[in-house]
Amino acid sequence: MSKAVVVLDPGHGGYDPGAVAHGLKEKDLNLALGLAVAERLEEFKVLLTRDRDVFVSLADRVALSRRAEADLFLSLHANAGGGRGFESFAYSGLKPGHRAFVAQKSLHAEVIGVLKSWDIIDRGLKQAAFYVLKHNPAPAVLIESLFIDNEREAGIWQEKHFVQTLATGVIRGVRSALGLSPENGADAAPKPRPDKPEHKSLYTVQVGAFAYIDNARQRLAEAREAGFDDAYIYHKHF
Ligand SMILES: [Zn+2]
Repeated sequence: MSKAVVVLDPGHGGYDPGAVAHGLKEKDLNLALGLAVAERLEEFKVLLTRDRDVFVSLADRVALSRRAEADLFLSLHANAGGGRGFESFAYSGLKPGHRAFVAQKSLHAEVIGVLKSWDIIDRGLKQAAFYVLKHNPAPAVLIESLFIDNEREAGIWQEKHFVQTLATGVIRGVRSALGLSPENGADAAPKPRPDKPEHKSLYTVQVGAFAYIDNARQRLAEAREAGFDDAYIYHKHF
């Protein structure tokens, strides 16, 4: 089964800082979050529209999504303009029940779940005609994580564990949006997806379990000797 493709889109970059307030530039926060998510999303093929502080046009961001045949496109932003809290967007021109709305629901629920511990208010699931949502061939969601012109929320962005905590929420949301259990990592069994109903299983035949690697290697050699060319050592750490 080939891996689902996730495009992460840290908003702004280069000469476009996005929102600027309380010594923060939105472009830096978006990138930090994108890199933190990408590093930990190993069960998917993850592409970033930018992995450093460079300007990338909106058209190029969407072009990457199209080229990669993304299963999910997630644009990462932080908010400003006199408010507070978290909100998410999907394209307003889509029919009810579109996969972008389903993905938005999963992402929104998981992110707001981790933000609760920071006492962040939920501004709700919204719709807009942002370019990267409107022109995207993939189900596309944009998240606005906190208002950096709000002093308290700018402070939260700078707290030690905040980016990793937010990344955890995003990762859980991506997993959930793509039909995996949000709880687990690469070993999570895929849930049947509505558009991909096949359910694949993997059965492993075990011929021994050893506390010492030399004994495991000995049994592997015996198995290979006996003609089981596909025998291998599976290391489980307790
Ligand atoms: Zn932005």
